[in-house]
Amino acid sequence: MKTEIQPKYFKSEIKCACGNIIETGSTREKMKIDTCSTCHPFYTGQKQTMSNQGRASKFIEKFGKK
Ligand SMILES: [Zn+2]
Repeated sequence: MKTEIQPKYFKSEIKCACGNIIETGSTREKMKIDTCSTCHPFYTGQKQTMSNQGRASKFIEKFGKK
């Protein structure tokens, strides 16, 4: 039987600024983050981005090429 030295592996909690708690495994016991997958602008703004696709492509058209 092998005896391996393993790093301490906590069942950690990542607490977000929005109050969302993500349970995960990490070598750090607790973490605090400002944005999570729930409240990150990329995710929360996804629906807006989809409805504003015309505006976004116009933006790219305006600033994307020189
Ligand atoms: Zn969050």
